[in-house]
Amino acid sequence: MKKILLISTGGTIASEQSKNGLVPAVDGASMIRLIPKLEGICEIEYRELLSLDSSNIQPHHWTEIADAVVEGYENYDGFVISHGTDTMAYTASALCWMLEGIRKPVAVTGAQLPIEDPMTDGKRNLFNAFKLASGSRAGVYLVFGGSVIDGSCAKKLHTQQFEAFVSVNTPCAALITRDGFQWAAPEKKLPAFNPRTATDERVFVYKLVPGTSEQVLDFAVQAGYRAIVIEGFGAGGVPNRESSLLPALERALKAGVIVVCITQCIYDGTHLDIYDTGVLAQKLGALSADKMTLEAVVTKLMWALGNTVTNEEAKELFLKTN
Ligand code: ASP
Repeated sequence: MKKILLISTGGTIASEQSKNGLVPAVDGASMIRLIPKLEGICEIEYRELLSLDSSNIQPHHWTEIADAVVEGYENYDGFVISHGTDTMAYTASALCWMLEGIRKPVAVTGAQLPIEDPMTDGKRNLFNAFKLASGSRAGVYLVFGGSVIDGSCAKKLHTQQFEAFVSVNTPCAALITRDGFQWAAPEKKLPAFNPRTATDERVFVYKLVPGTSEQVLDFAVQAGYRAIVIEGFGAGGVPNRESSLLPALERALKAGVIVVCITQCIYDGTHLDIYDTGVLAQKLGALSADKMTLEAVVTKLMWALGNTVTNEEAKELFLKTN
């Protein structure tokens, strides 16, 4: 029987009512006792790593989670990480970069309702996560509702609905049906397993609205941010007439800051080459997020900055790995 490590970190799935609303309180072993059908599928061991609402998850917690996987790598066949849904897409993305080339399954899951609630989706999600972790498909996946999503492609779209996540700009890795996991494509050729679990959180996200002051870019540079993600309009454009962002963008790039432009739209990716609002930013040296989600871009920048020395090296790492 496969041996799986459950790394619990909190979230709604593990929450109970307190006088100030839901807070994580239930440990991993208690959650598993509520899903008797798991006996016979795999042997489970527990690591109570964190007990946090995922709004309180910080980048150093991604490192702790990834390190827990690396520490258990030789002893377990797969890993399940129970986590709050609010920042689950960030953690799943971060783990993809940190555990590049991992040869074992890592399933990140949680729930919209506590596991002790009669209506909970947590039992189904945990059950499916353990099924995935006991299988042979390597990689980091977010397992939620009826879907398995590549860890770096997930986005939370719903605050209430059970099917809370979507896979952005790429089909779901697998759908979960009566016949089990229906994988959309054969397993990709993996690079060598190369865990690099450090992060540097000096990444600033600058969401544009009509009228935003371009000075915010200068403030971010002065505050010591090493990378700035500009959430622009439509295909990823930034203002270049009234309140032009371009002079501040040029100053940021000259200061060695990595700038990535990303669309505010959820689907179809960033395309800086269509309008002059994108082309001029790109000509100055801004990078395009292409098909990546904001969660993937932010975590990849933090990871690239944390695992290199200079901004130039971080930029190269950001562009090099998938
Ligand atoms: N606030 C919760 C969290 O992210 C929401 C959830 O888990 O669904 O921890």
